[in-house]
Amino acid sequence: MRKVAIISDFDGTVSRRDVGHHFFGAFVPRRREWLALLDEWRLGLISSRECLEKELSLVRADRDDLDGFVDGEGLDPYFNDFVDFGERRGCELLIASDGLDYYIDRLLARSGLGHLDVRANRLVCDGPRLAAVEFPHYDKMNCTRCGNCKRSHLEELRRAGFAVVYVGNGYSDRCPAEHADLVFAKGELLDHCRERSIEHVAFENFRDVERVLTTRFILHSGNVSL
Ligand SMILES: [Zn+2]
Repeated sequence: MRKVAIISDFDGTVSRRDVGHHFFGAFVPRRREWLALLDEWRLGLISSRECLEKELSLVRADRDDLDGFVDGEGLDPYFNDFVDFGERRGCELLIASDGLDYYIDRLLARSGLGHLDVRANRLVCDGPRLAAVEFPHYDKMNCTRCGNCKRSHLEELRRAGFAVVYVGNGYSDRCPAEHADLVFAKGELLDHCRERSIEHVAFENFRDVERVLTTRFILHSGNVSL
Protein backbone atom coordinates (compact mmCIF):
# COMPACT_ATOMS: atom_id res chain seq x y z
CA MET A 1 0.00 0.00 0.00
CA ARG A 2 1.25 3.46 -0.88
CA LYS A 3 0.03 6.88 0.20
CA VAL A 4 -1.94 8.49 -2.55
CA ALA A 5 -1.99 11.89 -4.23
CA ILE A 6 -4.82 12.85 -6.55
CA ILE A 7 -4.06 15.40 -9.23
CA SER A 8 -6.97 16.79 -11.18
CA ASP A 9 -7.19 18.95 -14.25
CA PHE A 10 -9.58 21.91 -13.86
CA ASP A 11 -11.22 23.00 -17.13
CA GLY A 12 -13.93 20.54 -18.15
CA THR A 13 -12.90 18.16 -15.35
CA VAL A 14 -13.56 20.05 -12.10
CA SER A 15 -15.51 22.74 -13.94
CA ARG A 16 -18.40 21.63 -16.12
CA ARG A 17 -17.07 23.43 -19.19
CA ASP A 18 -13.67 24.58 -20.37
CA VAL A 19 -13.94 28.03 -18.76
CA GLY A 20 -10.84 29.52 -20.38
CA HIS A 21 -11.78 28.33 -23.84
CA HIS A 22 -15.34 29.63 -23.61
CA PHE A 23 -14.20 32.95 -22.16
CA PHE A 24 -11.89 33.58 -25.10
CA GLY A 25 -14.59 32.31 -27.45
CA ALA A 26 -17.00 34.90 -26.07
CA PHE A 27 -14.60 37.88 -26.04
CA VAL A 28 -12.27 37.45 -29.02
CA PRO A 29 -13.78 39.45 -31.91
CA ARG A 30 -11.33 38.15 -34.56
CA ARG A 31 -12.82 34.69 -34.52
CA ARG A 32 -11.10 33.26 -37.58
CA GLU A 33 -7.69 34.23 -36.25
CA TRP A 34 -8.53 32.66 -32.89
CA LEU A 35 -9.72 29.39 -34.45
CA ALA A 36 -6.56 29.16 -36.57
CA LEU A 37 -4.50 29.65 -33.42
CA LEU A 38 -6.34 26.79 -31.70
CA ASP A 39 -5.70 24.54 -34.70
CA GLU A 40 -1.97 25.27 -34.49
CA TRP A 41 -2.05 24.44 -30.79
CA ARG A 42 -3.95 21.18 -31.25
CA LEU A 43 -1.51 20.12 -33.96
CA GLY A 44 1.36 20.78 -31.56
CA LEU A 45 2.82 23.54 -33.74
CA ILE A 46 2.74 26.01 -30.84
CA SER A 47 2.85 25.44 -27.09
CA SER A 48 -0.03 26.33 -24.81
CA ARG A 49 2.18 29.12 -23.50
CA GLU A 50 2.32 30.74 -26.93
CA CYS A 51 -1.36 30.03 -27.47
CA LEU A 52 -2.44 31.67 -24.20
CA GLU A 53 -0.25 34.72 -24.80
CA LYS A 54 -1.78 35.21 -28.24
CA GLU A 55 -5.32 34.62 -26.97
CA LEU A 56 -4.81 37.30 -24.35
CA SER A 57 -3.60 39.73 -27.01
CA LEU A 58 -6.75 39.03 -29.07
CA VAL A 59 -9.29 39.25 -26.24
CA ARG A 60 -11.38 42.39 -25.87
CA ALA A 61 -12.56 42.19 -22.27
CA ASP A 62 -11.68 43.63 -18.89
CA ARG A 63 -11.69 42.17 -15.42
CA ASP A 64 -15.41 42.86 -14.87
CA ASP A 65 -16.24 40.98 -18.08
CA LEU A 66 -14.13 38.06 -16.89
CA ASP A 67 -15.73 38.07 -13.41
CA GLY A 68 -19.22 38.17 -14.92
CA PHE A 69 -18.39 35.35 -17.28
CA VAL A 70 -16.83 33.16 -14.60
CA ASP A 71 -19.80 33.70 -12.28
CA GLY A 72 -22.01 32.01 -14.87
CA GLU A 73 -19.85 28.85 -14.81
CA GLY A 74 -20.14 25.90 -12.44
CA LEU A 75 -18.32 22.87 -11.06
CA ASP A 76 -18.95 19.14 -11.33
CA PRO A 77 -21.84 18.69 -8.87
CA TYR A 78 -19.96 15.89 -7.06
CA PHE A 79 -16.63 17.67 -6.71
CA ASN A 80 -17.26 19.08 -3.21
CA ASP A 81 -18.15 15.61 -1.96
CA PHE A 82 -15.07 14.21 -3.63
CA VAL A 83 -12.83 16.72 -1.86
CA ASP A 84 -14.43 15.72 1.48
CA PHE A 85 -13.85 12.07 0.61
CA GLY A 86 -10.17 12.67 -0.22
CA GLU A 87 -9.54 14.84 2.82
CA ARG A 88 -11.18 12.37 5.21
CA ARG A 89 -8.76 9.73 3.95
CA GLY A 90 -5.73 11.99 4.19
CA CYS A 91 -5.05 12.09 0.43
CA GLU A 92 -2.99 14.84 -1.12
CA LEU A 93 -5.21 16.79 -3.52
CA LEU A 94 -3.82 19.04 -6.19
CA ILE A 95 -5.42 20.95 -9.05
CA ALA A 96 -3.05 21.27 -12.01
CA SER A 97 -4.16 23.42 -14.92
CA ASP A 98 -2.72 24.77 -18.12
CA GLY A 99 -5.39 27.48 -17.91
CA LEU A 100 -5.43 30.62 -15.76
CA ASP A 101 -5.34 30.76 -11.96
CA TYR A 102 -7.73 33.73 -11.83
CA TYR A 103 -10.94 31.95 -12.76
CA ILE A 104 -9.92 28.70 -11.02
CA ASP A 105 -9.38 30.52 -7.71
CA ARG A 106 -12.65 32.42 -8.13
CA LEU A 107 -14.73 29.33 -8.88
CA LEU A 108 -13.16 27.25 -6.12
CA ALA A 109 -13.59 30.04 -3.55
CA ARG A 110 -17.28 30.35 -4.50
CA SER A 111 -17.72 26.63 -3.71
CA GLY A 112 -15.91 26.86 -0.37
CA LEU A 113 -12.79 25.20 -1.81
CA GLY A 114 -10.42 28.14 -1.72
CA HIS A 115 -7.98 26.14 0.43
CA LEU A 116 -7.13 23.67 -2.35
CA ASP A 117 -3.61 23.63 -3.77
CA VAL A 118 -3.68 24.98 -7.35
CA ARG A 119 -0.83 25.03 -9.87
CA ALA A 120 -1.74 27.03 -12.97
CA ASN A 121 -0.58 29.82 -15.23
CA ARG A 122 -0.94 33.26 -13.65
CA LEU A 123 -3.16 35.99 -15.03
CA VAL A 124 -1.77 39.41 -14.18
CA CYS A 125 -4.33 42.22 -13.93
CA ASP A 126 -3.43 45.91 -14.01
CA GLY A 127 -6.53 47.50 -12.46
CA PRO A 128 -9.36 46.48 -14.77
CA ARG A 129 -6.97 45.44 -17.56
CA LEU A 130 -6.13 41.80 -18.24
CA ALA A 131 -2.46 42.64 -18.66
CA ALA A 132 -0.40 39.48 -19.12
CA VAL A 133 0.00 35.79 -18.43
CA GLU A 134 2.96 34.55 -16.41
CA PHE A 135 4.15 30.96 -16.50
CA PRO A 136 5.69 30.10 -13.12
CA HIS A 137 5.84 26.37 -13.95
CA TYR A 138 7.02 26.63 -17.54
CA ASP A 139 9.65 24.28 -18.97
CA LYS A 140 10.26 22.18 -15.90
CA MET A 141 10.18 18.91 -17.88
CA ASN A 142 11.76 19.96 -21.19
CA CYS A 143 8.23 19.91 -22.54
CA THR A 144 7.47 22.22 -25.43
CA ARG A 145 3.74 21.65 -25.65
CA CYS A 146 2.58 22.85 -22.21
CA GLY A 147 2.62 26.23 -20.45
CA ASN A 148 2.37 24.45 -17.12
CA CYS A 149 3.52 20.88 -17.75
CA LYS A 150 1.45 18.90 -15.25
CA ARG A 151 3.92 16.09 -15.39
CA SER A 152 6.37 18.14 -13.30
CA HIS A 153 3.87 18.23 -10.40
CA LEU A 154 3.27 14.51 -10.81
CA GLU A 155 6.98 13.67 -10.70
CA GLU A 156 7.42 15.88 -7.63
CA LEU A 157 4.76 13.88 -5.75
CA ARG A 158 6.23 10.61 -6.92
CA ARG A 159 9.66 11.56 -5.61
CA ALA A 160 7.94 12.22 -2.28
CA GLY A 161 6.72 8.58 -2.35
CA PHE A 162 3.11 9.01 -3.50
CA ALA A 163 1.17 6.83 -5.89
CA VAL A 164 -0.38 9.39 -8.22
CA VAL A 165 -3.95 9.20 -9.45
CA TYR A 166 -4.60 11.55 -12.36
CA VAL A 167 -8.02 12.84 -13.43
CA GLY A 168 -8.46 14.72 -16.71
CA ASN A 169 -10.25 15.27 -19.97
CA GLY A 170 -8.12 17.14 -22.49
CA TYR A 171 -5.04 17.75 -24.54
CA SER A 172 -2.98 19.20 -21.69
CA ASP A 173 -3.62 16.01 -19.68
CA ARG A 174 -1.66 13.83 -22.07
CA CYS A 175 1.76 14.49 -20.52
CA PRO A 176 0.75 13.52 -16.96
CA ALA A 177 -1.57 10.68 -18.06
CA GLU A 178 1.37 8.91 -19.69
CA HIS A 179 3.16 8.82 -16.32
CA ALA A 180 0.46 8.46 -13.65
CA ASP A 181 -0.10 5.28 -11.63
CA LEU A 182 -3.82 5.40 -12.36
CA VAL A 183 -5.64 7.57 -14.91
CA PHE A 184 -9.29 8.60 -14.94
CA ALA A 185 -10.14 9.88 -18.42
CA LYS A 186 -13.01 11.43 -20.32
CA GLY A 187 -13.31 13.50 -23.50
CA GLU A 188 -10.18 13.96 -25.64
CA LEU A 189 -8.01 12.31 -23.02
CA LEU A 190 -10.16 9.18 -23.14
CA ASP A 191 -9.71 8.97 -26.94
CA HIS A 192 -5.97 9.48 -26.51
CA CYS A 193 -5.69 6.74 -23.87
CA ARG A 194 -7.61 4.33 -26.08
CA GLU A 195 -5.49 5.14 -29.16
CA ARG A 196 -2.22 4.80 -27.29
CA SER A 197 -3.28 1.84 -25.13
CA ILE A 198 -2.68 3.82 -21.94
CA GLU A 199 -4.34 2.01 -19.08
CA HIS A 200 -7.23 4.11 -17.77
CA VAL A 201 -10.66 4.17 -16.18
CA ALA A 202 -13.36 6.06 -18.09
CA PHE A 203 -15.45 8.42 -15.95
CA GLU A 204 -18.21 11.00 -16.28
CA ASN A 205 -18.01 12.83 -12.97
CA PHE A 206 -16.32 12.77 -9.55
CA ARG A 207 -18.89 10.40 -8.09
CA ASP A 208 -17.56 7.80 -10.54
CA VAL A 209 -13.96 8.53 -9.49
CA GLU A 210 -14.87 8.16 -5.82
CA ARG A 211 -16.75 4.93 -6.41
CA VAL A 212 -13.97 3.32 -8.44
CA LEU A 213 -11.29 4.37 -5.94
CA THR A 214 -13.23 2.83 -3.04
CA THR A 215 -14.42 -0.34 -4.75
CA ARG A 216 -11.52 -1.29 -6.99
CA PHE A 217 -8.48 0.18 -5.36
CA ILE A 218 -9.35 -0.07 -1.66
CA LEU A 219 -8.57 3.45 -0.71
CA HIS A 220 -8.41 4.01 3.03
CA SER A 221 -6.28 6.09 5.39
CA GLY A 222 -4.67 7.88 2.48
CA ASN A 223 -3.24 4.66 1.01
CA VAL A 224 -4.09 2.94 -2.20
CA SER A 225 -3.34 -0.51 -3.53
CA LEU A 226 -2.03 0.27 -7.01
ZN1 LIG B 1 3.94 18.77 -20.98
